[in-house]
Amino acid sequence: MNAFRAIVGVVLGFGLVSCQGPSKGIGRSTYGDRPGPKGFKTVVIDAGHGGKDSGAQVGGLMEKQLALDISKRLRAELQPGFKVVLLRSDDRFIELDDRVSLTNRYGDAVLVSIHLNYGRRSTSGPETFYWRTDSYSLARRVQVQLSAAIPNESGNAGLVRRRLRLTRNPTIPCILVECGYLTNAREAGLLTSTGYRERLAEAIARAIRDQSAHGDSGMGVLPRPIYAPPSRAGDARG
Ligand SMILES: [Zn+2]
Repeated sequence: MNAFRAIVGVVLGFGLVSCQGPSKGIGRSTYGDRPGPKGFKTVVIDAGHGGKDSGAQVGGLMEKQLALDISKRLRAELQPGFKVVLLRSDDRFIELDDRVSLTNRYGDAVLVSIHLNYGRRSTSGPETFYWRTDSYSLARRVQVQLSAAIPNESGNAGLVRRRLRLTRNPTIPCILVECGYLTNAREAGLLTSTGYRERLAEAIARAIRDQSAHGDSGMGVLPRPIYAPPSRAGDARG
């Protein structure tokens, strides 16, 4: 993002929902104000947290470790049909803005950020976050597939439109996936099983393959773009 676009983004951030976005490149958009991707062959996977940032920790379970494990399984599921890039493949810390910059090296691609959730003990199930119009179908497909793979859901938010660093700022379609609640004893127990984590990876891979094969077909009316400024450190859950 250059400074001009950043300023335009801030100016347009106040309620001008119906106006035309200022950035219309081929395959890239800083607003995501376009249909979802079809035919892409590259998937960027972001294993959430890492290094000094463990993410959620419950008992002996650490979000950063589970996220990396599921990310590697997802990579294996997608290869060789897709080129797969892992933003981190070991236990290292990467700033969110650096994850965005790394993602922006890739053009005809999607970003999937993998996380585990933390909340009330009674809450369980997957949640998938998107912000942009171009990311809606992929997010919905992932949420549907995960929901089918996860045996119990209770009190979870499901598919959520939320402006986060990794759902707003990359130039390619981008979603953030919470693969279950570490604070739910039953779900945490399942997550300790390699077979269960493999099932989650298979479900996410299926959604990505469907998106590449079918684009937005069957997804109905896409949500309207919202020309909000980039998410920054200090934004809620940014
Ligand atoms: Zn997380």
